[in-house]
Amino acid sequence: MLVRLRKNLPEPERAAVLALARELGYAVRALEPQRELLELSGRGAPDHRSRFEDLVGIEAILDAGEARERFQRAPGAPDTLVQVGEGRFGAGHATVIAGPCAVEDEARLLEIARGVRAHGATVLRGGAYKPRTSPYSFQGSRERGLEMLARVKLQTGLAVVTEVLDTRDVDAVAEVADLIQVGSRNMANSALLAEVGRLRKPVLLKRGFSATLREFCLAAEYVLAGGNPHVVLCERGIRGFDPSTRNVLDVGAVAALKRMTHLPVIVDPSHAAGRADLVRALARAGLAAGADGIMVDVHTAPSEAHCDGHQAISLEEFARISADARALASLDGKRLSTFVELAR
Ligand code: PEP
Ligand code: MN
Repeated sequence: MLVRLRKNLPEPERAAVLALARELGYAVRALEPQRELLELSGRGAPDHRSRFEDLVGIEAILDAGEARERFQRAPGAPDTLVQVGEGRFGAGHATVIAGPCAVEDEARLLEIARGVRAHGATVLRGGAYKPRTSPYSFQGSRERGLEMLARVKLQTGLAVVTEVLDTRDVDAVAEVADLIQVGSRNMANSALLAEVGRLRKPVLLKRGFSATLREFCLAAEYVLAGGNPHVVLCERGIRGFDPSTRNVLDVGAVAALKRMTHLPVIVDPSHAAGRADLVRALARAGLAAGADGIMVDVHTAPSEAHCDGHQAISLEEFARISADARALASLDGKRLSTFVELAR
């Protein structure tokens, strides 16, 4: 590990750094006469970087070396593959997730599920618990929504992703979900992250709309540190200044994350755009930037949706996006998971 101390460090602060290095088993070597640049040699562990960073004497960790966090890409180590039903994310695989924003009506959910399955989705999305900006908006069909998802999953063979908002609901959601979503608003909810980290079920972690990539990765670290290695990251747009789109899809973040971490990264062009007519363009942009999949809002009657109707695309548009995903994945040498492919 390479660390820089603050300039003109008072002796007790320097001593605290050296004491921690000793405690963690590092040999310390000063790299220049001012003794501000230190090389720490030792075995390293994921928590060491943060422990040093928390000391007032540390200006910066220039290179964490062997003390890398679990999310970090290690030289030569393979990418993480997360399997969700027939869908695979990462390590050369991409998957399309589609479905309504919220689970509302069972017949409608089944109709959408069958439609998206026919056009290449292997995972069905649908929120039973909805994190809404206003407490007066539709909050989701909750337990009833989970039951509907369970039945539709049985009828279609699709895997299911649905969001958990509260630590008290984790077990109930995990019973139905094949992929448990922690949404943007909860990205930094460490209690919830720890709770899903205790499971051995895949987690879809969405980026907070003003989170830096390091904050995003450290949120994933909570799940990984809990012993759950199955994490998929989702870029869903960050806050911008222009109301033309709901959020700004950060395609640079997708490319950067693929370099920072071995975890799969997908994009949600629907919550980024906030409008149906831009979803296809953003889905293409995300995949072109290296995403290992997409998650899109699809509805067969958007005008009746209680939630995010303006960004829901039709099945016809979804079919076009799915075809794009297949083409873009193959351009990148990735396999797009589909039932169609499995049936061949
Ligand atoms: C969602 O995917 O249903 C959702 C609420 O998204 P986000 O957390 O990205 O706002
Ligand atoms: Mn939504």
